[in-house]
Amino acid sequence: MNTRYRPVREEGLPEHTLDCHGCGLAQTVPRLRPGQSAYCVRCRHPLARVSRFPFSLPPALGLASLILIALVYTQLFMQVEMPGMFVRLTLPEMVRVLLAQDFGVLAEVMLALTFGIPLLFCLTCLYVYGGLLWRRQLPAMLWVTRVLVRLRYWMMVDVFFISTLVAEVKLGTVAVTEYGPAFWLMFALSVLLLRMAQSIPEHWVYFQIQQLRGREPAKLLRTANTVNCSKCLFHQPASRSRCSVCGSALYRRRPESMSTSLAFLLAALILYLPANLMPIMISSNPFVTEINTILDGIAYMWRQGDRLVAVIIFSASVAVPVLKILALMVLLYSAKVRPLLEHTRLALLYRITESIGRWSMIDIFVIIILMSTFRTHVARVVPGPAAIYFCLVVILTMLAAIYFDPRLLWDKMAPVSNRKTVKHSA
Ligand SMILES: [Zn+2]
Ligand SMILES: [Zn+2]
Repeated sequence: MNTRYRPVREEGLPEHTLDCHGCGLAQTVPRLRPGQSAYCVRCRHPLARVSRFPFSLPPALGLASLILIALVYTQLFMQVEMPGMFVRLTLPEMVRVLLAQDFGVLAEVMLALTFGIPLLFCLTCLYVYGGLLWRRQLPAMLWVTRVLVRLRYWMMVDVFFISTLVAEVKLGTVAVTEYGPAFWLMFALSVLLLRMAQSIPEHWVYFQIQQLRGREPAKLLRTANTVNCSKCLFHQPASRSRCSVCGSALYRRRPESMSTSLAFLLAALILYLPANLMPIMISSNPFVTEINTILDGIAYMWRQGDRLVAVIIFSASVAVPVLKILALMVLLYSAKVRPLLEHTRLALLYRITESIGRWSMIDIFVIIILMSTFRTHVARVVPGPAAIYFCLVVILTMLAAIYFDPRLLWDKMAPVSNRKTVKHSA
């Protein structure tokens, strides 16, 4: 008889202990069945979740998304008609236009955020869930899971879709635009990818992989000599340097979190100046050449009566980056020196900062769409140098938020709240 340890597969998560990823508070999570979630009692951060159809939903969404990606990238995206000009645009055509005009960096950024990363996300999802469904431990499964989890932040198909709507309003004054099938399919793809990113809870995935490996059950309970892995949230002996469940480096708080985050933030702050002072878009026709900075462009649209577009571009290109840089400064100061806001507010500020950053890419995507449309002898739109600086500002502030460990805020505040409780009960 085979005496190897082979438990019956647990579909949900058993009762276990873990430290909240948002504030570090140790707590007990009750047994979770498919469709159930647990939230932190202190900061409301999601602690653990099991999707409703935990094994089948993500790969089904992944497969559907792959088909949609293939269609979105081959079908007609939009066509634009104006006197003397008729353009039929597909997404590969947009990338080709950027490459042909020496804006290789923008082409790579657009291709990565709207095609490469979503594609890789679907493929890694199918690989990991394929292993889970067929109960096979596949080569490099842990490594692929780590990649899968990280890619979630960097998919921007939904941002590109909204950018198309903004570009359409801008184009609407001079041209007649018509959407092709790829545009509508892109909306469906955005929804599927968002749903998919939501339905892959990494804590549960690592638990399932650990069950597949069959050697030992995941470490579910804390002891005096364990440390809770920050990535998979299972306990590991404090003497280890790497987690045996997920393979990540083990630490209580992300090492050098504040200095790394501050370095990214300072770099973003420096690049924010040329991003605003230099021209972001140069448009020309036989009579006039217009060189626009971000603020010029917004003021021009406001005066022209395109107030909605002006407000959207202002929010995405000015308000979001500025508020995000300020929020990160407040968070870093609060973690390092003293809290500037109540701790639940700081936790909320962190969550908002982490989630809104990618919407700043709207302006860049709008310029890419306009540029692919206006490229005749008569009228041309070309990105200015600020476009590349602005892209870097968005990416750097996103990195600054990702590298910031929000548990540091609570480490600083814990004594304050304890005192409060003591005073309360006295
Ligand atoms: Zn918490
Ligand atoms: Zn781990």
